[in-house]
Parts: sequence; C-alpha cells; structure tokens
Amino acid sequence: MIIILLGPPGAGKGTQAQKIQSSQGLVQLSTGDMLRAAVSAGTEVGKKAKDFMEAGKLVTDEIVVGIIADRIEEDDCKQGFLLDGFPRTVAQAEALDNMLNQKSLKLDGVIEMKVDDEALVDRITGRYTCADCNQGYHEENLKPKVDGVCDNCGSTNFKRRADDNRETVSSRLESYHAQTAPLLPYYESQGVLKTVDGMADINDVTTQINDVLGSLA
Ligand code: ADP
Ligand code: ADP
Ligand code: ZN
Repeated sequence: MIIILLGPPGAGKGTQAQKIQSSQGLVQLSTGDMLRAAVSAGTEVGKKAKDFMEAGKLVTDEIVVGIIADRIEEDDCKQGFLLDGFPRTVAQAEALDNMLNQKSLKLDGVIEMKVDDEALVDRITGRYTCADCNQGYHEENLKPKVDGVCDNCGSTNFKRRADDNRETVSSRLESYHAQTAPLLPYYESQGVLKTVDGMADINDVTTQINDVLGSLA
C-alpha cells in the first residue's frame, strides 16, 4: 500500500507514521527526518537544505524529489510505504505521480490530518524526541512512562529540533497554507483524499487512520 499523510507542521504525521509503521509493516518515509540526517552528516544536500529549514521555508522541489526518487528504489519499500511530509507542493505531487506511473504503482490513499492552527503552536513548541531512537514525545501530551527515560529504547538523551520555535512556526504555517494546502483539491479530484480529525487524542487518531486503511485494503 502507498499512503500519504498530509497535514500542517505539528499535526501528528510523524507520531502516527511511527505507530502505523510498526502495526501495518509500512515503511515511514519522512523527508524532514532525511533532510535533518543530511544536515547533521554535512552532505551536499544537507548544505543546500540547512538555511531553508532553519528559516521555516520549504527546501527546493528538486532536492526533495531527488531524495524520494532514490529512497523508493530501496528494497524495504517493495511492500509499500507511508509518506510523511512529502509531497508538500503541487510540483512534488506531480513528480510523485510520474515516479509511481513509471514503476506501475498507484497511490492508494491520502490521509489529511485536520488540526487548528492554534493547537499547532503548542504541539510544535512542546515537541521533543529520543536522541537515540527518534521516538517522538511532547512535554504535556505524550510524556515517557518513566520521567526522563525513553519508553522505546531506555535512553536518557533527548533532543529538540532547531526549527521548533515560535518564530519559525508562523513561517512554516504560512508555507503550509500557501504551498501545501493546494494538494487537498489536487488529491480530492483524484478521488483518493480521506480526512481524519487530528484534534482528537493520539490513540483516537490512530483508530481513525486504521479505519481508513482498512477501507482501502
Ligand atoms: P513538520 O514535521 O513540522 O511538518 P518536517 O520534519 O516534515 O516538519 O520538515 C522540516 C523542514 O524540512 C520543513 O520546514 C522544510 O524546510 C523541510 N522539508 C521537509 N519535507 C519537505 C518537502 N517535502 N518539501 C520541501 N521542504 C521540506
Ligand atoms: P508532525 O510530524 O505532523 O509535524 P508530530 O507527530 O511530530 O507532528 O507531532 C507534534 C507534537 O504533537 C509531538 O510532540 C506529538 O507528541 C504531539 N502530538 C501528536 N499528535 C497529537 C494529538 N493527537 N494530540 C496531542 N498531541 C499530539
Ligand atoms: Zn529511544
């Protein structure tokens, strides 16, 4: 199955993708995670992407399309994949359609996670992750079971993203409304768009997404 999770920054795409990845055996492909890895490794892609990311602006279509085109060729994508944070522009969506056509694959569904802008600021400023396994947490909404210890791997090292601050959030939300929201009518017209209430509790959102996945299977 090939699925896109679509939603504004902080909507819960990564959180749900991690849960679905383990329950459904779909690989999570997060362009944000791949770009952050490239920035820390200091690769050419990372050098090109860094300033855009820190400013809360979208990286060029050429860079992210290249990353995804390479990634979906890998073996672990043969059973299907879950795109988290890609596509984010109509040009990226068209590039994805072309890639899938060339491989005789089809997009099964696009799941829109609808969340109010006001809630997104709190989600983003309270977000942190395990520095060792990348498990996501939130200061108020999703704390580790034992304070300061990752549920998943037992690590006591956590990190925050450089772009998760109030200043860049508004720029990221603007990019979402101007450049990414046009994907909703794009996928609606392809008949693949499904919407879930991303304001609900984390587990409730998972149930809604699993219901959608069940209806597509
Ligand atoms: P969030 O989880 O808050 O939506 P991501 O981790 O997906 O953020 O992305 C972080 C940053 O990486 C974005 O603000 C943007 O600069 C860059 N980025 C990620 N995916 C894309 C994409 N598909 N197109 C352009 N830029 C991207
Ligand atoms: P995205 O990948 O869309 O940017 P994340 O999955 O990283 O968003 O979620 C942003 C923050 O909000 C994280 O700290 C996460 O724990 C928290 N979060 C995710 N889903 C919910 C939810 N349904 N209710 C409350 N908080 C949530
Ligand atoms: Zn961990």
